[in-house]
Amino acid sequence: MESNILKRLREWFKKNAATLPWRPADLDAPRDPYAVWISETMLQQTQVATVRDYYIKWMERFPDIETLAKANEEEVFRYWQGLGYYSRARNILKTAKMVSEMHNARCEMPRTRKELEALPGIGAYTAGAILSLAYHQKEAILDGNLVRIFARFYALDFLPTDKASAGKNESCAEAYWKYAREVADSPKAYMHNEALMELGRTVCRSKNPDCANCPLNGGCRAYTEGRTGEFPPKRERTQRDWHGTALVVESADGKLLAVSAGQAFLAGQATLPHFESPRNATAGLPAEAEAYLNADNVVSIKECGSFRHNITVHKIECRVLHVKLSTKASKCVASSGNKIDPRFNATWVKKEATAKKFANSFSLKAIKLAFR
Ligand code: SF4
Repeated sequence: MESNILKRLREWFKKNAATLPWRPADLDAPRDPYAVWISETMLQQTQVATVRDYYIKWMERFPDIETLAKANEEEVFRYWQGLGYYSRARNILKTAKMVSEMHNARCEMPRTRKELEALPGIGAYTAGAILSLAYHQKEAILDGNLVRIFARFYALDFLPTDKASAGKNESCAEAYWKYAREVADSPKAYMHNEALMELGRTVCRSKNPDCANCPLNGGCRAYTEGRTGEFPPKRERTQRDWHGTALVVESADGKLLAVSAGQAFLAGQATLPHFESPRNATAGLPAEAEAYLNADNVVSIKECGSFRHNITVHKIECRVLHVKLSTKASKCVASSGNKIDPRFNATWVKKEATAKKFANSFSLKAIKLAFR
């Protein structure tokens, strides 16, 4: 982008930058790298309006890397609950622990792309955001907003994820990154990057871009050619249907079975045992349930209906069975042996601690159906 366009972009940003909890009033002030990392990670796949409250609560509880590094996964998930994509929360915690060990008491995010990208959950985008917004380095970023702007501004009929070459032996991703680096090749890279993210969110929106009020309209090909609806090119997102059953297994002493491995979804988190099953499943205890409990100990099986839920590309419809056992949690055994298969990493959760221990809406929806 030419310098006069970038100048207009900066002026637009200074007038229109929204007030956000992670954005200081002085737009030229270097940011706290920790705050950039947390806010940008939360903002991946999640709207600003949703992230706002999560971010404030998170920073009250975990104001810096050192505090976060001392937290446990269960608590971190609780503060993440509702944001989805829990692997992001898990990676944040892993990275905080690694940074705190690497840098001892200093607990500072690394200052090079190579070091940042070696940390769990930090990819090219987040690394670029930390380096440019916090350390004011001439580093590029590329997120969905910038992709949409570049596609329209340069009338690009391919996406960064396309496999085919964008020409001159250049991959499609590289073609986009080249434009991103061009924008960042300036002492004001931090402002260009942030202004473009904001512009993509508020002006160059997916639907109905507000081109008349866009600071880039003087150089935008899609706008001048009246083709904004053609860019970026459409690609169908493949949604996958998943139909299954979740078990709310309750022991005689009122504890619920939680597993954190060997499940279709939510690996590494305390969740309800669940498995794929047909829509017209027959009544009674499904054979798959016997991996988690001994059928001889079953006192009652209640059909609780089903709920819908989305996890990443999966469109889930899940039936819920509330299974009551005659034995106490400590005595519960799966039919396959004298304890539940260790690959499920099973634990028992007191009913009153449900909301705290099952920090994912998939399990909470099922539990709500079981005890309504
Ligand atoms: S002129 Fe329109 S299409 Fe082009 S960048 Fe601005 S808002 Fe987007």
